[in-house]
Amino acid sequence: MITINGIFFDGQTAIAHKAVLESDGIDILIKGEEGVSLLDKCDLKASLRITPRLGGTRRIIMFHKGQRFETDDSKGMEQLELKARINKSSIIVSFLESQWKTVAACLAGLVIAVYGFINFGIPFIAKDIAFRLPLNTMNRISIDAEQILDQRFFKPSGLDEERKDDIRQVFYALAKGLNSGHAFTLGFRKSKVLGANAFALPSGLIIITDKLVETSENIRELEGILVHEMAHVINRHGLRSVIQNTGVVLLISMLVGDVTSITSLAAGIPTLLVESGYSRQFEIEADEAVGKYFMLKGWDIKPFEDILIRITAEQPELKGTQLISTHPETIERIRHLQKFISQKK
Ligand SMILES: [Zn+2]
Repeated sequence: MITINGIFFDGQTAIAHKAVLESDGIDILIKGEEGVSLLDKCDLKASLRITPRLGGTRRIIMFHKGQRFETDDSKGMEQLELKARINKSSIIVSFLESQWKTVAACLAGLVIAVYGFINFGIPFIAKDIAFRLPLNTMNRISIDAEQILDQRFFKPSGLDEERKDDIRQVFYALAKGLNSGHAFTLGFRKSKVLGANAFALPSGLIIITDKLVETSENIRELEGILVHEMAHVINRHGLRSVIQNTGVVLLISMLVGDVTSITSLAAGIPTLLVESGYSRQFEIEADEAVGKYFMLKGWDIKPFEDILIRITAEQPELKGTQLISTHPETIERIRHLQKFISQKK
């Protein structure tokens, strides 16, 4: 039995009677002081209308003949509504209102979970997938990406063979020394749009532009760039970037069961590889590889920093799997590299 204290108006006079409402969830009756009946027992659902609860407002029960019962006992009213299964939506609203801190905490938790999944979950999964991809898949993707690059940006290199041979010698000695299991190959191309640049494809093909070679002042500068690009290949940064960047799209596609977009996404990987740049973290990782290599050789890091700055200064504004994506980041990268080296010393 639910009992609720309140005041009762009989609908004919303005007199407010102190009253007690009693209900078992089916019938309802209202008694006044000393047990006088103010409202005879009647069917709860058929004979009344309850104002929905909003905020801390007083609850009012309206009866068909103009009688009214008012109460501040919102808990009691909720019990009555629950038991009689009425005003369900108002109960939810009232729950949300009274539990707004819980609701806010849940929402905040959801936002953090989504943020965490995008920033840590997807990169983790992307890394796992990238390292599981079989060699022939990577080669296939790389051949397609090379074709796209050649169609869109590149012309055959105009460098003389002697110059190319000098660089090849350094490159293949490096590849051999790294012993990473990758079949590294070096390609030379000319590109007006891309300026002084280098590209690393998952297969281990590294392409450098004529302008990059011309911008370098000595072979050690180029060696730094080559180590940096090889680090991108070894750590599968290109594939990881593509998988990461498309992770959210893929996730949504899978959730809605849109298989066609998954297949078209897979077909678009070579293009994405060409178009999406590396994250700051991947650039830093590749720079650290150069730092480690130069330290191992007992060389100063300055040649690598010099060429980075020189390239950045001449860089046309273009995104892609390029050496330099955005200009202010170069200074930050150099600072990080210097800090990295001073910590290792
Ligand atoms: Zn890079």
